[in-house]
Formats: sequence, C-alpha cells, structure tokens
Amino acid sequence: MKNPNHEMADAIRDVTASVQKAIDEGYRSRAIDVDDLVEVLLAIADRLDPPVEPPEQNRVAPGLACPECGEADADRLIWLDDEFVRCDACGTIYPPAG
Ligand SMILES: [Zn+2]
Repeated sequence: MKNPNHEMADAIRDVTASVQKAIDEGYRSRAIDVDDLVEVLLAIADRLDPPVEPPEQNRVAPGLACPECGEADADRLIWLDDEFVRCDACGTIYPPAG
C-alpha cells in the first residue's frame, strides 16, 4: 500500500540533503535566519507542487506581464475592462504598458 505521506517525506529529505550539502561545502551558514527558513519551506512546496512554466505561445509580451510578480501566462492575466488587467497569481490590478 502506498503511503500518502511518502512523497512529502521524500521532498523534505531531498531539500534537507541539499541544505546540508550547501552547509558542508561552505555555501550556507550554519546559523539560519528567517529568510533561510522561508527559502527552505518554499523549496519543499516547489518540490511537491512545481511551478508550471506557461508554454511559449501562452506568454504575453514583456510589457504586459504582472509588474508585481512577473506572471506572464495569458491564462492567469485577466482583462477586467479595456484598461486594467488582474493578475490571478498575486491579485495585483494594473494597466498594462504598451
Ligand atoms: Zn502578479
């Protein structure tokens, strides 16, 4: 029987191993701060649920991407009217340049 926690445990082990490797090789300090903690937690989340790059044909022109988070997937940038776009990734509403 497949343990549903197995995938999560593996993601945590993988990220932990890469953090330990970075410490061993001197790239990362042994004293962690809150930024390190956030980075590690997000790395685990990304491992479990990888961010999906939109296919090339679905990306908007650079001037139209979300100014807040950089979202460029046309399916996640919703025109509200003729002037404003709402970013579904972060909720920012902005007038696209260009
Ligand atoms: Zn955004």
